Amino acid sequence: MLTLKPLPAFEDNYIWVLYDDQHAIAVDPGDPAPLIAYLDTHQLALTAVLITHHHRDHTGGNTTLRQRYHCAIYAPDNPSIPATTHILRGGEILNLTAPELHFSILATPGHTLDHISYVGHGSLFCGDAVFGCGCGKLFEGTPAMMAASLDAIMALPDATRVCCAHEYTLSNIDFAKTIDGSNQALLERERNDRTARSNNQPTLPSTLAREKATNPFLRFHAPDMIAFATRYLNRPNPSPADVFGAIRAAKDAWDG
Ligand code: ZN
Ligand code: FE
Repeated sequence: MLTLKPLPAFEDNYIWVLYDDQHAIAVDPGDPAPLIAYLDTHQLALTAVLITHHHRDHTGGNTTLRQRYHCAIYAPDNPSIPATTHILRGGEILNLTAPELHFSILATPGHTLDHISYVGHGSLFCGDAVFGCGCGKLFEGTPAMMAASLDAIMALPDATRVCCAHEYTLSNIDFAKTIDGSNQALLERERNDRTARSNNQPTLPSTLAREKATNPFLRFHAPDMIAFATRYLNRPNPSPADVFGAIRAAKDAWDG
């Protein structure tokens, strides 16, 4: 029996913990304190940390956790990530023994160039690539690069649980409504997710099916979003990467 738990950290991060009755792994533990408290309460040994990209709000726990648990630390190839024990580049299968877990590694550059995602056990740990109804800002990559990463994610099964590293869903929905306000699935999602947040529950994990239906950043092949980009860019026949780029630019402008 595996349990999947999002631990709130900082203002709006989630550290995803996956564990059996004795052993746990954690994804992107930027702050070690809430993770250590949770592991102590549930008497779990941390065997591995999985890192999606180099930002400190994801890697800040590595040194402390490595010292305390002697856990393996899997991370992309970036010397700025502390305490890495195993480098992953995308395309590998990662086999862990306790708990017994198998992940395929997906290169998902765009938010950063080093960004990878972990796919296994019906779940996608996508760091800052995909958020509930949103996606990561393009700090290092290009729209074409991120669109290709999102296409790879969209090829996963619809039932995949989407485990994002931040609780940004409600503000992402506010933006999505400005460009896709007649999308009934989006409006229904808004009701569900507002209820979850008002009960202090995470809006995550989401599912890939829900994201494909409501997340504008996964809808860059949809006629409505192509029409939006045509207006936004003021030119006909935008490519899929152009449509994605227009949605990203509109969101960046909306964020101010
Ligand atoms: Zn980030
Ligand atoms: Fe982040």
